[in-house]
Amino acid sequence: MSDDDRQEDCIFCRIVAGEVPSEKVYEDETVYAFKDANPKAAVHVLIVPRRHYASVAELAKADPDTLAHIVQVAQQIADQDFHGAYRLIFNTGEDAGQSVFHVHAHVLTGQVLPE
Ligand code: 5GP
Repeated sequence: MSDDDRQEDCIFCRIVAGEVPSEKVYEDETVYAFKDANPKAAVHVLIVPRRHYASVAELAKADPDTLAHIVQVAQQIADQDFHGAYRLIFNTGEDAGQSVFHVHAHVLTGQVLPE
């Protein structure tokens, strides 16, 4: 990733760059997946694009292929951990609970999820 693609003060850019430790679950050229530090399910993984985009809306506009790829990676994780069942959440905007402004998919799986 070039310096232009990242934001110095972004915690997820720093995780992708290996500057902040994380428990890696999966990585390839476009995405990085790691365990959430404060899990809300038996398996709670965050999938982020390597490039910095603030929100899923921004990602969908700029790079829809990577958004589709994130969904495929979520499916792979759930196939591996819980017969393909999972919940995929993109909190978008502070009022919806987004606290890190580098787009991330929450993948919740590994257990029967409450409604
Ligand atoms: P949001 O509230 O933006 O939808 O989700 C941010 C998520 O990132 C939270 O679930 C939080 O636990 C997780 N998180 C924040 N900082 C870190 C970190 O440094 N490492 C890891 N592994 N997860 C983090």
